Amino acid sequence: MTPVAVLINVIAVAGLAAVLRGKGSDTFLFGWMAAVTLASVVGLRGWWHNRLNPKLTASRRAVRRLVLHAAILGTLWGLLGLEVFPRVGTGEQFFIGMVVSGMMCAGAFVLSSLPMAGTLWTITMGGPAGLALLLTGDPMHRALITLLVAYMVFIILGVWNAARMLGARLMAEAKADNQHEVIRLLLRDFEDQASDLLWEIDQHGRFTHASRRLLRQFDVDEAELTEQTAVELIEARIPDSPEARACWGRIGQHLASGAPFRDLVLPIRCANGVRWWSLSARILVDSSGAPMGWRGVASDHTDQHLARRRLEWMAHNDPLTGLVNRTTFRERLQELLADGVRKPFAVVYIDLDGFKQINDELGHSSGDVLLQTFGDRLLEGARRDDMVARLGGDEFALLLRQINSEADAHTVLARFLDSLTEPCPVAQRQVPLRASFGVALAPRDGHDIDTLMRKADLALYTAKHQRGGGYCVYHPRLSEHGRRRGLLESALRLALELGEFRLVYQPQIDAGTWTLCGFEALLRWRHPELGEISPTEFVPIAESIGIMPRLGQWVLEEACREATSWPSHLSVSVNVSAVQLRDTRFLASVLLATAPIAAPRIELEVTESALLDDITGAVATLHQLRRHGYRVALDDFGTGYSALSYLRRFPFDVLKIDRSFVRDLLADEEALVIVDTILAMSRALNMTTVAEGVESVEEAEMLRARGCKVLQGFVVSEPMPGRDVLSFATAWANRAVTRLHLLAAG
Ligand code: C2E
Ligand code: CA
Ligand code: CA
Repeated sequence: MTPVAVLINVIAVAGLAAVLRGKGSDTFLFGWMAAVTLASVVGLRGWWHNRLNPKLTASRRAVRRLVLHAAILGTLWGLLGLEVFPRVGTGEQFFIGMVVSGMMCAGAFVLSSLPMAGTLWTITMGGPAGLALLLTGDPMHRALITLLVAYMVFIILGVWNAARMLGARLMAEAKADNQHEVIRLLLRDFEDQASDLLWEIDQHGRFTHASRRLLRQFDVDEAELTEQTAVELIEARIPDSPEARACWGRIGQHLASGAPFRDLVLPIRCANGVRWWSLSARILVDSSGAPMGWRGVASDHTDQHLARRRLEWMAHNDPLTGLVNRTTFRERLQELLADGVRKPFAVVYIDLDGFKQINDELGHSSGDVLLQTFGDRLLEGARRDDMVARLGGDEFALLLRQINSEADAHTVLARFLDSLTEPCPVAQRQVPLRASFGVALAPRDGHDIDTLMRKADLALYTAKHQRGGGYCVYHPRLSEHGRRRGLLESALRLALELGEFRLVYQPQIDAGTWTLCGFEALLRWRHPELGEISPTEFVPIAESIGIMPRLGQWVLEEACREATSWPSHLSVSVNVSAVQLRDTRFLASVLLATAPIAAPRIELEVTESALLDDITGAVATLHQLRRHGYRVALDDFGTGYSALSYLRRFPFDVLKIDRSFVRDLLADEEALVIVDTILAMSRALNMTTVAEGVESVEEAEMLRARGCKVLQGFVVSEPMPGRDVLSFATAWANRAVTRLHLLAAG
């Protein structure tokens, strides 16, 4: 304001000079004019000096100088009034009054940013003016003095008030500046450190602010970043996946419609590989509401994304084998069945045979290897559309597409079985992979999951129980079996209490002398409606529903009770099932049940399957039994896989040659060789051999000639009720006529 103020001063001085010239002391007037002009120009000098780059700060000295300058100039103006006012006419007095009041108000206003200068200016100017009014002695002027004082007070208050407001504003501005600076620094720091990235694009779609992290992520420099639009930059970095394209599409819709968005996760190929960015943004508008661009945050969600993916994967897959799990399998099945089966497919249930044994013998990690290898083999056998699942434990399942007929199923399953022929190397051993497969065909065998799964399960059950495992395709007959099995299960639970069981006894004779040496006790069950049920059918069921230990105990007790009435040289053989042998209370229960007769008269027959699951435990039990004097027989010898290895593990007293070899003896050269081998071996191991199922005199003669010790079969007698045993024994001793005796008689 300095030049304007100087100009005003000069104009006022010139005006006064024109009005007052010749009205009093011209010497004073010109001296005064020179003094005011000089004082003004001194002020102008400082301004001139700094006019090109105005200073934003002022030193205390400069302020003091300004205050002093104002006081001097004010005093000069005051002097004018004091010297000239009382001596001139009313017209001139009016002129001087106008000029002095005007200068006083305007000057104070201009000086309000320096309140002390404004105050001194007002006082030095107004004080002499009041004195001048007093000196005229005019009563009206006295009244004016009061008014002048009131004005001065008012002006001074106004100056201080304005100064206070100005100061407050300057302080606020300084504070805001300071805050801006802090925010800018924080942002910088944040952009460098945090996983979040702030971004802003202008109305042309270009990034307005290139943070260092953005440049690094996109692997571009600042020029490249601003050459392209944000959309072009990102689009070139979207991976080629349907998921990525779908998300990019969603973001595109928001950008087009101007609707804000939150947490849309977009994969972008960045300098360090694909990163998943969670994007949130809203549109920026100017004061008229026109769009100005977008501002938002991008946070790196890669870790969370991968963790979520992993969780999702775990929800759908089996972590051990990497195959899909039961839930996914069922979901997929549900999808295929959803609106009617258009293309036929097959559901296959699979059970790994003998898994428990391997797990127990070789440890869990070996079991895991076996499961993994098995899963891999299934995957090898599967086609692209097929699904391989692990349902849990050693249960697996397949979903086979494009199976139009049973013949298709046979072809595909043969391939799966083929992929299992190679054994699996586990813990320095070659473990054979054996599994049973149960197949159900959709839509032929059912239209809903549960029916199909049940039928596949039924087929699996059949496959497991047919000799040699393999696979079985569901057939309505199996359902018949299933129903029957259900009936038998519930009936069996009550059969013991209802007294539906009984024992029959089949004689065994010495092959050399044809004297009777004992009986095998065989269990019989008569179902009230279904009639006689074979033990080959109901014993496995009794085992699976857990009543076998109790039933076996009953058989032992019953057989021993019966045998007490027999001549003491006759032995009694009792069949012992696998589950009995596994029972820890087995030895105690045998001791209890067989108490009535001497242990050496009792022979316990076990099959290989009884040894399969837990060979170490079973062998320990058998040793204990032998120590108590019982004889132990290996039943059905020759039908299992590794019969010889069991002979090494336990010294059986008796080997029972399976009926199937005896049956083929006359017709089949191979059967003859096998029987010969068994006989030679048992001689070497000092074991007694019993031939089972001997039906003809020719077979009996042949077995005797080759060294078999004991014969059992229809040729001697069919199994008989206990009450007939004694009369049979007497008749046999008296050589009552049988076919065998006829032969012996020649
Ligand atoms: P196994 O121990 O091999 O019993 C011999 C089976 O062969 C008996 O069938 C018997 O009736 C039959 N058999 C005897 N001589 C001949 C013959 O000359 N020709 C033919 N074709 N068959 C003959 P059964 O009584 O039906 O028993 C079948 C299987 O049931 C038994 O086979 C045995 O494994 C099991 N079993 C029977 N009773 C019991 C028992 O009390 N406990 C247990 N755990 N299993 C039993
Ligand atoms: Ca037997
Ligand atoms: Ca047998």
